[in-house]
Amino acid sequence: MKHVMRRSSALGAVLLAVFLVSLDAAVALQVPEVPSRFEPLVVPDPATSLDVATTPVASLHASDRARAGWERFKAAHAGSWRVHLDRRSGAPLLVEGDGIPWSVAEDASVDSIAAGLRTFIADERDVLLADDAELVLDRDGSGKLTDDVWQIVFSRSVAGVPVAGERYVFSVGHGNLIAFGTPRWSRIAVSPNPRIDAEEAQARMIAYMGLTPADTIEVVAPARLEFVALRAPGASGKAPAGPFAGPLGSGYASALVWRIALRVSGELGTWVARVDAHNGAMRSFVDDDRYARVKGGIYPLASDQICPEGCEQPNFPMPFADVTIGAATSTTTTMGVFTCSPAGSVATTKLAGQYIRINDTCGLISEAVTCSADVDLSVSAGTDCTVPAGSAGGNTHAARTNFYQLNRVAERARTWLPSRTWLTTQMTANVNVNQTCNAVWDGNSTNMFKSGSGCGNTGELAGVVLHEWGHGLDQNDGGDFDNPSEAYADITAFMTTHQSCIGRGFRLSGSNCGGYGDVCLSCSGVRDQDWDKHALHTPATPMGFSAPRCGTSSDGPCGGAGHCESYISGETIWDLATRDLPASGLDQPRRGRSPTSSGSNRAWDRAATRTTARSRARTAAAPRRGSPSCASSTTTMATWPTERPTRPRSSRRSTGTRSLAAWRPTRPIRTAPSAQRWLRPS
Ligand SMILES: [Zn+2]
Repeated sequence: MKHVMRRSSALGAVLLAVFLVSLDAAVALQVPEVPSRFEPLVVPDPATSLDVATTPVASLHASDRARAGWERFKAAHAGSWRVHLDRRSGAPLLVEGDGIPWSVAEDASVDSIAAGLRTFIADERDVLLADDAELVLDRDGSGKLTDDVWQIVFSRSVAGVPVAGERYVFSVGHGNLIAFGTPRWSRIAVSPNPRIDAEEAQARMIAYMGLTPADTIEVVAPARLEFVALRAPGASGKAPAGPFAGPLGSGYASALVWRIALRVSGELGTWVARVDAHNGAMRSFVDDDRYARVKGGIYPLASDQICPEGCEQPNFPMPFADVTIGAATSTTTTMGVFTCSPAGSVATTKLAGQYIRINDTCGLISEAVTCSADVDLSVSAGTDCTVPAGSAGGNTHAARTNFYQLNRVAERARTWLPSRTWLTTQMTANVNVNQTCNAVWDGNSTNMFKSGSGCGNTGELAGVVLHEWGHGLDQNDGGDFDNPSEAYADITAFMTTHQSCIGRGFRLSGSNCGGYGDVCLSCSGVRDQDWDKHALHTPATPMGFSAPRCGTSSDGPCGGAGHCESYISGETIWDLATRDLPASGLDQPRRGRSPTSSGSNRAWDRAATRTTARSRARTAAAPRRGSPSCASSTTTMATWPTERPTRPRSSRRSTGTRSLAAWRPTRPIRTAPSAQRWLRPS
C-alpha cells in the first residue's frame, strides 16, 4: 500500500502544485465582496498595461544604429553577451554575459558601487539611453543579495519629476558586472511644468468621484507631480492594439500628471487619481489598497511523510484568521485574504480568529509582515515545537494544521447547522500538550499531544484533529453526546478526509491498528472504518463483533467499550458513502479524489442525510445481554444535514458514568469528566 502511494506521490505533488499555483492566481484577483461606489469610475493605470516588445539585438538589421552600438559594446567587453532590447524604447531589457571585471572593495557600500556604475553608464550612454542626471540611487532597492552579489537600483527622475515605475538595475558579483537592464525606459517628451496646479487637480478628482460636503475625506497622499509612460499613438492618432512593431524607440509617449491618494469614510479602498497636469484629463483612477493573504504550510492528512497528503504542503490559506493592522483587527476570508490598508502597513496574526484560537504549549504565535506581502507562516522540517526559522515559538506544524483543518470543518458544519451558536463562537484548540499517544475533547477545547512513545504528534494528523472536534460538535449539536460518541467523531473525521483509516500516521512504526482482534490491513491510525480493510473482511455487528470483542465496560450502546462499538456505526456510514450510494447511481464513484478536495461531497453528504437505518437494524437485530440501550442506539450523522431541534430518541446516553480511570493520562486535564472524550483507550 505504501509503495503504491509512494509511486503516485510525484504525480500527486505535481497536481497539488498546480492546484496551489492556480489558487495563488485566483487569490491575487480577489476583490472586496461589497464593491465600493467608486468602482464604476475606475480608469486603469496606463503604465501598468504597457507591453514591452522584447527584441534580440541580433534580430536587428546589420545597418541599424542600435545594433552597431551593441557590436561596439561587445567588442569592448570580451566574452559572450546576450542582449535583449525593448523595441518601444530601444533601451536594454536585459544584458547578460561573461561579465565585465568589477572589483568590489571589502568595505564597499551601495553608494560606492553606485558611483562606479555612474561612470560606466555615462561611457555607454549611446546604448543605455540613460542620462546620468536622470538616475536617482534607490537605496531601499539596493543592497547585498548574497555574500558576494550586490544589486544596485537607480530610479528615474526628469527635471526633478519622478518617472513612475522606471528604473535601471545592475547586478555586481564574483568580481564582475554580471547583468543589467531596465524594465522600461520611456521617452519623456512633455514639459515638466504643469498648466493646472495641485489644488485644481484635487478639485477635479473630487468632482470626478462625485463627492459632496457630506463625505468625509482623508487625503492620504497630497498632489505631487510625476511622469507616466503611455503607448505612443499610431498614425491614426490612437495607440495601436497588439504587439508593438513600429520603428525602434518610437513606442512610448508620456504625460505629466498630478498623483493624489485619498480615502472616503465608509468606503473601501484608497483611491488614487492621476490627473493630467496639462489638460486636466483623468489618466487613471484606481483603488491602491493591496489585498494580501495569511497562509502557511499544513499537513493535509498526516505527518507520516508519505507524500503528498502526508507531507507538509506550503501556501494553504488560513481561513478566518485574525489580522491586526495598527489598532484595527480584521478577519481573513475563507481563502485567507485580507485588506492591507493602507498599503505598507504591518499586518500581524496570532492564529486567534473568529472561530478558532490556537493555544500552543510550545510558545506564542505572532507572525507579522509589511503588506501587501502575504503573512506567510511558512513551513519547516521536524515536529512538535520545531518552527520555521525566525518564527515565534508557537508557529508549529500542529498550530498551522489545526487552525486550517478546524476552520474548514467548522465552516462546512455551519452550512448544515447555521443556528448552532457553538459553531459561531471561538473554540480554543490546544496543541503540543505535553503528553503522548492520545488526544482529547475536554468539553470546551480540543487537545492534541506531542509525539513520543512510538506515536506521532496527534495535532499533525487531520483524522485525529477532526475526530476530537467531532466530539465537540456531538456535544453541541442539540442533543448532547450520542452513543457511541466515538462513532460520531470518527465519522466526522472521515466525512472530511475521505479516509477510512482514522488518524493515519498515529503509529510511527507504520504498524497496523489492532481492530480489537480483527486487525487492520493498511492503517497506521487508531481505527479503520472500512470493514473490508480488516483481516476478517466482515462488517462489525453487535453479535458478530461487539459481543466477542468489545468487553463489558458498559459505555457503548451494547454494553461494550465505546471505541470498540464505534465500529458498527462507523463502518455502516463508510459503507453507505463509498459503496451503496455510488452503486445506487446517486453520485459518481469517489476514486481519484484528493483527500483535501473540497469538490463534490454529495455522496458524503447524502450518506449523512440518511438516518443510519442499517446501523440501527444491526444493533436492534441482536440486543445482547438483554441490554435495551443496544436496540435504541442512535449514533448517527443525522445532525450534519438537518438540524435536529429536539433530543434524539435515544435518551439513554451515558453521561459521565463511563469509566475513565483506565484512560486517564499521566497529567489529567482539569475539566468535567463527563465531557472528556479520548481518541483511544490507553
Ligand atoms: Zn474520541
